[in-house]
Amino acid sequence: MSARRIDGKAAALALRHKVADGVAAFRETVGRAPGLAVVLVGEDPASSVYVRSKGKATVEAGMDSIEHKLPDTTSEADLLALVDQLNNDAAVDGILVQLPLPGHIDSAKVIDAIAPAKDVDGFHIENAGRLAVGAEAMVPCTPLGCLHLLKTELGDLTGMDAVVIGRSNIVGKPMAMLLLGESCTVTIAHSRSKDLPALVRRADIVVAAVGRAEMVRGDWIKPGATVIDVGINRIASDDGKSRLVGDVAFDEAAEVAGAITPVPGGVGPMTIAMLLRNTLVAAHRREGLQDPQL
Ligand code: NDP
Repeated sequence: MSARRIDGKAAALALRHKVADGVAAFRETVGRAPGLAVVLVGEDPASSVYVRSKGKATVEAGMDSIEHKLPDTTSEADLLALVDQLNNDAAVDGILVQLPLPGHIDSAKVIDAIAPAKDVDGFHIENAGRLAVGAEAMVPCTPLGCLHLLKTELGDLTGMDAVVIGRSNIVGKPMAMLLLGESCTVTIAHSRSKDLPALVRRADIVVAAVGRAEMVRGDWIKPGATVIDVGINRIASDDGKSRLVGDVAFDEAAEVAGAITPVPGGVGPMTIAMLLRNTLVAAHRREGLQDPQL
């Protein structure tokens, strides 16, 4: 391996410490802790794990964690009523409704019911629009975490060629907007793109957010490029168990790249750290304070 391994765990820990300091300062100024409400509908095992770890991280940062666990029989109307109640609750700065929701609930309707100022996931259409026009927005946590790693690794990104593979509203599109905001030349690739390897070979920065195990091969990578692997895929391993891999064939790509994130331990830990950051930022904005320096 010749590439530097980008340590997302260490970067996330450092950011979480900064957020905790920011929370302490906020408490001192405002006289209360920032509050994050997390809503879980049903008992999907992966979602339950995410919600538990988000709650734990929130409390560790010194913020109030308000958890609402609802049965999977909850009606859309009842969920919308809860969101409305949280929108109007002065102790709640951030609202996160864990996805996916059960099939009988329209996720888009629920996301659009969240007050944009409390939308710490950054999925509300108003926040997506604000990001697109370069206005102050709540930005989705995963791409924000990727950008943090890239800027820490590379400094100024101006003029760099970036390829984002994936165009979801949660990762690919906001990632592309953030990179454009940093004056990169951005290509967004997707399942209909022609000759993906050739597109990727041009890139100084590759962000893979596809959901296909080890799809991006080593010989697609330009020597010295920085590779950010968002993918989380579980595959069978030789010992009959399973293991997590990214969207990039790590060992191959690490021979060519300048720097690369591992899976696990790369982008994943940054997502929760950015959720805490967004909650602290939302709390500051609601109180009319300047954004904290993080
Ligand atoms: P989506 O399924 O919503 O989007 C996947 C994107 O990849 C789509 O735009 C799709 O194109 C594109 N794609 C699919 N197949 C190909 C292909 N063969 N060639 C090129 N592009 C392709 O996924 P998400 O954006 O939600 O997530 C992507 C990955 O990131 C997943 O593995 C997910 O688990 C992971 N993830 C990790 C997070 C973290 O915290 N680390 C957080 C969020 C997601 P098209 O639009 O044409 O269908």
